[in-house]
Amino acid sequence: MVSIQTSGPEGSLIVQIARSLAAYEHESAELLLTFLLTAPLTLLVATFGGYFLAGRMLKPLQTLTLAANEITAERLSQRVPVNNPDDELGALAQTLNRMIERLERSFVEMQRFTADAAHELRTPLAVMRSEAEIALRAPRAGDDYARVLENMLEETNRLSNMADQLLFLSRQDAGLLADGRTEVRFDELLAKVVSDMQLVAQEKKVLLTLEQNEPSRILGDVGQLRRVLYNLLDNAIKYTASAGKVSVSSLTQNEFVNIVVRDTGIGIPAEQLPRIFDRFYRVDPARSGDASGAGLGLAICLAIVRGCGGTISVESSPGAGTCVSVRLPLVSAN
Ligand code: ADP
Repeated sequence: MVSIQTSGPEGSLIVQIARSLAAYEHESAELLLTFLLTAPLTLLVATFGGYFLAGRMLKPLQTLTLAANEITAERLSQRVPVNNPDDELGALAQTLNRMIERLERSFVEMQRFTADAAHELRTPLAVMRSEAEIALRAPRAGDDYARVLENMLEETNRLSNMADQLLFLSRQDAGLLADGRTEVRFDELLAKVVSDMQLVAQEKKVLLTLEQNEPSRILGDVGQLRRVLYNLLDNAIKYTASAGKVSVSSLTQNEFVNIVVRDTGIGIPAEQLPRIFDRFYRVDPARSGDASGAGLGLAICLAIVRGCGGTISVESSPGAGTCVSVRLPLVSAN
């Protein structure tokens, strides 16, 4: 509706326009009704849809959790499924599998170590037991008892040596070895060990010589370094026949001291070389007769040398001899 009026002294014009709001109000009411009817439905669909989608997305994670839960110490050979190696969950599953693989390797290694240790401890105990049983079966002469006691003493020494080596390795694995590292005059230590081992070499009629010994200082535990040198010289003498030679040299080069222990002994077959640093590994226990150790000596040497930041390697030709090289970092240029 439109109305036009003229009024006032100047005859001003007033225009009034009016329109009915009924249609607008009707539409608003309809809109409100539609909204009230559809909103709960939309909310319901969104809730269930979201729940369903989240469930579908989390399903692989749930499968992964279930699979991981089933892996115990007895089932370390199992792996979690990798459905899609390219997405984030696939990457997580692959990481888990790599971790389980590392755990499995350490576990197998630990089981082997325990079994080997039990086996090695059983042998001297069985020898001592049968010696004692045989000696007690009938009265013996004094000499026979002395021989039995001598054999038992030998086995006891072997046992206590092994227990000592096992204790060292387990402490080292657990990081429980006291850090007794000091600055060591390595040349002096080497000269002392070579001189101490002369008696062992002479008994075996092996010529032991210290050919070069340059002054060197290294950071290490003097007891442990002595142990490395004794082990290496002991092996060199033990596996060299009488009239053979063992020579030792220690030379500094750049930031390192290189110690070489060379013998003219029986050597080590090439296929066995990679394993000689393994715990309880012996090339052939019969080769060294009753002087054979438990196969822990080189494993201990490796652990000590690595602890000092050094390296150890072996070259050998069966029948011609063996050469063990140890490289240790110097404290500073000497
Ligand atoms: P063990 O105390 O039984 O000698 P090691 O760990 O010291 O054990 O050595 C492991 C094996 O390596 C030994 O069984 C031995 O056969 C071999 N081996 C080590 N050093 C020598 C060497 N200088 N010459 C020949 N064989 C060696």
